[in-house]
Amino acid sequence: MTTQTTIICRCGSSCNLLDQSGTSATMQCSACQLCALVIDRTASCRRIHLADFHLKRGDGLHQRPLDDVSMASRLVESLVQDTWPSPATIVDFGIDTDRHLGALQHAVHQGCAIYDLDRVMGDGPAITQLVRAFAHYPYGRIEFRTAYDEVADLY
Ligand SMILES: [Zn+2]
Repeated sequence: MTTQTTIICRCGSSCNLLDQSGTSATMQCSACQLCALVIDRTASCRRIHLADFHLKRGDGLHQRPLDDVSMASRLVESLVQDTWPSPATIVDFGIDTDRHLGALQHAVHQGCAIYDLDRVMGDGPAITQLVRAFAHYPYGRIEFRTAYDEVADLY
């Protein structure tokens, strides 16, 4: 897949492709290293800023590998089976109420992929944007917050 659109970071530099899955891709700024999730980039090109993905993920000592989507995969399993996820998953995705669960379930039914959920994990504002990115969103202005959001602000 070739990049149809040049993605420009908030700092003004251009972004490079970090990895991709289906019609989604993760782009990383060549200057500040910040990442963004780009969904369906050949069509409407929705971009979701990821607060600390570049710090959490990669092949560094304390980083989780980019291709480890096991947590998001377990979340989708629960959503599809209409059961509550594990306490750890609830924390990682900021699922405070059954409306949060319903909003995630709705996104998955609308085509939100495991890869997309993996990218926004532990990042409340990014989860909120991802859920809102899918059409016919019936949950109003629901906000996701995770325990990690405060930590991310400190970087
Ligand atoms: Zn940048």
